Formats: sequence, structure tokens, C-alpha cells
Amino acid sequence: MKELIIGSHVSFTKHEQLLGSVKEALSYGANALMLYTGAPQNTARSALDKIKTRAGHELMKKHNIDVNNVVVHAPYIVNLASSGEKQDFAIRFLKEEIKRVHELGLSKLVLHPGSHVKLTREEGIQNIIRALNIIMEDNDSVDILLETMAGKGTEIGISFEEIKTIIDGVKKNERIKVCLDTCHINDAGYDVRDFDNVLNKFDKIIGLDRLSCVHINDSMNEKGMKKDRHANLGRGTLGFDTLINIIYHPKLKDVPKLLETPYVTIDDNSKERIYPPYKHEIEMIKKKKDNPNLIEDIRKYYK
Ligand code: FE
Ligand code: FE
Ligand code: ZN
Repeated sequence: MKELIIGSHVSFTKHEQLLGSVKEALSYGANALMLYTGAPQNTARSALDKIKTRAGHELMKKHNIDVNNVVVHAPYIVNLASSGEKQDFAIRFLKEEIKRVHELGLSKLVLHPGSHVKLTREEGIQNIIRALNIIMEDNDSVDILLETMAGKGTEIGISFEEIKTIIDGVKKNERIKVCLDTCHINDAGYDVRDFDNVLNKFDKIIGLDRLSCVHINDSMNEKGMKKDRHANLGRGTLGFDTLINIIYHPKLKDVPKLLETPYVTIDDNSKERIYPPYKHEIEMIKKKKDNPNLIEDIRKYYK
């Protein structure tokens, strides 16, 4: 039997870079990871350190972490659905980011398709297509994974049909793939509890061969609420069994499953600190057993 591919979002610091990210993933018992090459909320990026990149790959090799299970996430302020100077900036940034991913020896970049803001939905979609055509023209090394979105605000990519429209609009689209987010599709209105049906729809509309990464998150909200608030594993409306069923789904066995569940806060003498839940959640996943004391156990562990 093939080993479960499971991991989480990890940090990528200026000093430790890929090596630090891999170390963090290993500390969670993970064999997959996702990182932002800088802050998720801005586009400031520092230079890559070749020595740390090489050391990161050596550590991956030593621990059997397949390079295909190491994913980069583009910052979420990059908006390809915008127009004019804003869109030019987004295109330029993503071209640079693709170079960075390649330089890191990686080949998967997750991207939020965009938000149409004051434009119409159709205009937003056309802008994304136009931008991706420019970006993919000279990209022969990195897969762009369009993420399925929750529908917060004016987000685009909230149905499989919308994602498919974007893919079809891009001429050189072999490297356009998809990242399915369990919280987002719930919030967008899909019945995640009936996951086989969701996967069948995905396969019919987009094709399972495009599914390249799955974000595993519980949701704080009911189906169709368009909120995008992630919950810890088994602590949301999806529940532990639903998510375990997805994580161990035979059709997803080759796809990295990555947690983006919220950090746990600890109120320490009125100073708030936050700690990652991933080590404990991955433990629950491997045991296939919910831990009703998850949050308390995380607090105890880091205290
Ligand atoms: Fe995302
Ligand atoms: Fe996500
Ligand atoms: Zn989200």
C-alpha cells in the first residue's frame, strides 16, 4: 500500500528558507508541505539562498519527501481578475514567482484565481484568462494550480464550471491544474459529505487528471454560506469522519493533502500567542481517530 501523502502549511523564513520549511514539516510527522515564499499577504520577497535550497532537498530525500508533494502558494493579494496597472503588476509578480518556484527545485504553485471587485463577473473571468495566457506562454516548468474558492466577496473560481471556463480559455493549458479546498467548496455550496458525488462532478467537468492538490480544512460555516473561515479538524461543520474519508480516498492517493487549519491561541498573561495544530491533527489522521481534547492537547504541548 502506498503511504498516505499528508502535510500542512509551513513557514518559509528569510534565513532558513526551504531547509526550515522541510524541518518544520518533519516536526509535524508530515511527508508533504506547502509554503509561501514570503508573507502570504504581501508581495515583498527576499533573495533565495542556493545553499538552503540544496540542503532542503537533501533533507527531503533523506526522509522520502517527494518533490511533487512540496507546493508553493502565491500571495492572496495577487489579483489576475483586475485590469490595467493592477493586473500588469500581478502578471509581473507571478512570472517572478514562477521563476522562484523553479529555482527552489519545485513545480507546483497554488493560485487564487482572483476577485472581480467592481467589474462584472464575466469581465473578471476574461481578465484572468488574458493574464494566464501571458503567464503560461513562456512557462514550461511550473504547474499553476487554480484553487476552488469559497465565494467570499467577489471571488472567482467558486464552481467547477468557472474553473473549467478559465482552463479552456488558456491556449497553453497543460500546466493549469486545480487545488480543491474542502472548506471552500463547502462554503461555495457543494455537499462535501457526499464526496464521491463531488469528485464525480469534478471529473465530469474538469477531469480528475487536473486535480493536483487538496487543502484539508474543516469549515466554521454551513454549506453555501460563502464565508471562508477554516476550522480545526473535526471542529467544524464537516466533521472528522467526512474529512478522513476524503484524506484516505483511493482516487486521491497520489495527491498531496495539505492542512490549512487555524493556529490555536494561548492566552499567556494577557499576551496572546499562537501555535500550529498540525502535529496533533496529523496524529489524529494517521490514527483515523478523532481527539476530543485536540485544542487542549495542543495548548498543553506548547506550554
Ligand atoms: Fe488558498
Ligand atoms: Fe486553501
Ligand atoms: Zn480559505
